Amino acid sequence: MKAHSIETQASITPSKALTFLKEGNLRFINNLKVNRDLLQQANETRDGQWPFAVILSCIDSRTSTELIFDQGLGDIFSIRIAGNVINTDIMGSLEFACKVAGSKLIVVLGHTNCGAIKGACDHVEMGNLTELLSKIQPAVYQETKTTDPNMRNSSNKKFVENVTKLNVRRSVKTILNRSYILEQMVESGDIAIIGAMHNLDSGMVEFMDDTWVSSKKEIESNVSFSENSEKAEKSAKAVAASQ
Ligand SMILES: [Zn+2]
Repeated sequence: MKAHSIETQASITPSKALTFLKEGNLRFINNLKVNRDLLQQANETRDGQWPFAVILSCIDSRTSTELIFDQGLGDIFSIRIAGNVINTDIMGSLEFACKVAGSKLIVVLGHTNCGAIKGACDHVEMGNLTELLSKIQPAVYQETKTTDPNMRNSSNKKFVENVTKLNVRRSVKTILNRSYILEQMVESGDIAIIGAMHNLDSGMVEFMDDTWVSSKKEIESNVSFSENSEKAEKSAKAVAASQ
């Protein structure tokens, strides 16, 4: 399989990019990965790169995006940070990937059994990790389904799963809120953003269809979702303060 070129990248729409990733993950979970000559791909991509998607995922050693989406050299940008959190440098990397290098799709990828999410659920504080985990705390507060205070920790699998999904949703929203460049690109149909969850047990990636943002209209509905989220967060904080 050949590496992407400027022509193939230009022909890919955001929906097509999503299809490529879905197909790649299907190949991965069925152990049918494409036969690639990586040395040849290294040769083909030495003068430039035209990746069709950028994926923000966790550093977890079991979530390597090129592997779980069966992609080769030059196919996808991979941004990895514990808990797939957002900061200014991550935003800059996303803007580079889409605006400068032409990627068509942003995926925020959470995963099951995430150590960073568990750490945030347990309010762990340790060195520089404290600041990183604080970026996940809003998702912990936003989880209002688990009302028993004794169940709001990493030993409760359902609580951890809920927080992981909320963290992905918040990241999708944050990307739109924090980048005028990316917001404009979504509005003009040049790119789309979607959240997803990688199941470590099966290897399967489940895309969260209701997080898909590919137009001005969908940005607006995402904003109304965010207003609801902010309300939920405030009420969760009020409940936490009253306990
Ligand atoms: Zn993780």
